[in-house]
Amino acid sequence: MLMIILALDALDLKQVERFNCHHLLQTEYGETSLTGFKQERTVVLWASFLTGKNLEASIPVETQWTYRVHSEKTFLPYFTTHKTIDVPAFSFNQKAHVEERRLLKGVFDEAVTIEAYDAVVWRNHEKNKEAFLKAIGHFDLVMGYFNLADAIGHLSFGINDKLAVVYEELDRIAEAVKDSNDLLFIISDHGMKAIGRYGDHSRNGFYSFNQGMGLHHPKITSFHMLLRRLVENEYATN
Ligand SMILES: [Zn+2]
Repeated sequence: MLMIILALDALDLKQVERFNCHHLLQTEYGETSLTGFKQERTVVLWASFLTGKNLEASIPVETQWTYRVHSEKTFLPYFTTHKTIDVPAFSFNQKAHVEERRLLKGVFDEAVTIEAYDAVVWRNHEKNKEAFLKAIGHFDLVMGYFNLADAIGHLSFGINDKLAVVYEELDRIAEAVKDSNDLLFIISDHGMKAIGRYGDHSRNGFYSFNQGMGLHHPKITSFHMLLRRLVENEYATN
């Protein structure tokens, strides 16, 4: 089975619908459940998504960005070949994200402009997009992570035109990969809510499949078993 996972940080169901991103809104889509999680921490949620277990208590805030899960604890080994691009808690590009966080702090210290920060976020995004599109078709599973909606959203969620450009871009990535016969699974860790011009994490995360799965408000930790079953069924029928 060939599968593509488009992992979009902070992609928010309400915004996907509001901007009418019809490539992100596939055959089945909805909101994920973060029941059991006290906070909406990015690394915690992606690590828990990868492993199917709530890892909130095992990931200290202080060292979360360098936290790594072992491959054998994730769903990745179910696939004969896989490629992940910039996935938090797994193949995260530390250098690029350290720079983003440094600039983000610089904006709050008034040492860096929002435009300079945005430019670096977009540059990193373009690099990841290139790597992601290049990998499609060469592995059983390609999982590409994009933090654009989160990184731009934190400083500009309340600025409609800017957010529209971000959602259009993410919709275009879904469009670019959806023509294949692969299963396309789009997932976010959490949603986002406006605090003035800024954005903060919220619970309304998003999931979407290009075929009916019959899920209803699935827990973010439930996809691990679902992917395992899908792969097993595939091998059983071939
Ligand atoms: Zn996040």
